[in-house]
Amino acid sequence: MPEKLNETSLDTVAAAICYAMGIDPPEFAAGTNPVLRSYVDEKLHGEKCSRVLMYNPDAVAEWICRKYPALLREAAERTDIEVPLRSVMPSVTPVCFGTMYTGAQPAVHGIMKYEKPVIRIDTVFDAVTRAGKKAAIVADSECSMGRIFLEREMDYYIYDTLEEVNAKAMELITEDRYDLLVVYNGNYDHWMHKYSPEGIEALSELRCNSEMFAALSVLVERHWKKHNTLLGFAMDHGCHEIDGKCGSHGLDMPEDLNIVHLYKILPRTV
Ligand SMILES: [Zn+2]
Repeated sequence: MPEKLNETSLDTVAAAICYAMGIDPPEFAAGTNPVLRSYVDEKLHGEKCSRVLMYNPDAVAEWICRKYPALLREAAERTDIEVPLRSVMPSVTPVCFGTMYTGAQPAVHGIMKYEKPVIRIDTVFDAVTRAGKKAAIVADSECSMGRIFLEREMDYYIYDTLEEVNAKAMELITEDRYDLLVVYNGNYDHWMHKYSPEGIEALSELRCNSEMFAALSVLVERHWKKHNTLLGFAMDHGCHEIDGKCGSHGLDMPEDLNIVHLYKILPRTV
């Protein structure tokens, strides 16, 4: 089990997404993640990305990624860099995704417990819209990602099932309509809570997350050839096992806070 918290905060991702796209970051965003920034520069030599696909699996802890690399093989093979991050407290979904897409700490974006109000401060989605670009979120109807960024000038594709979410994500990539496309999958989190982080039920969903990301990245390679694209496999927080063989998260501990995002840039080929 991990003993130390990762140094770099999740709040550095928002500015890094905007840096990759060549647009100004959200108003309250922390500084740009240095690893992602250097990687963008190294891969694109000053060019920027005209497409970003963020795939957001829920609750995939760094310790799970380290312990079960075979279950994340597809995602690892289709990405170039690992970005270890420290999520924010309390380490629950709306708080952490709030930080991922505002670049602000919870006290600033306003969600400080498990609740799903619409965030009112500036977000990556607003930054994208201001720059004259288009953003969309594809998520399920119960989840935080389907709620906390509503009421903005962007498109939302909210469905009841994971299958509909993923089918729509594939369709939207094929149509090449959005500059920033965010896809949320909460299946690992759901089964982790019920049957523990290392239960077969949860780990098989982790494999699904990896496979889904790989399938989306194949479609990106095929349909976004003319774009420099940033691809992210980007979870919100980790998890730990509790009594009764269930899983949980929300605490100030490395298991819940340490995560590792995976990124790749696909330079345009035409
Ligand atoms: Zn979560």
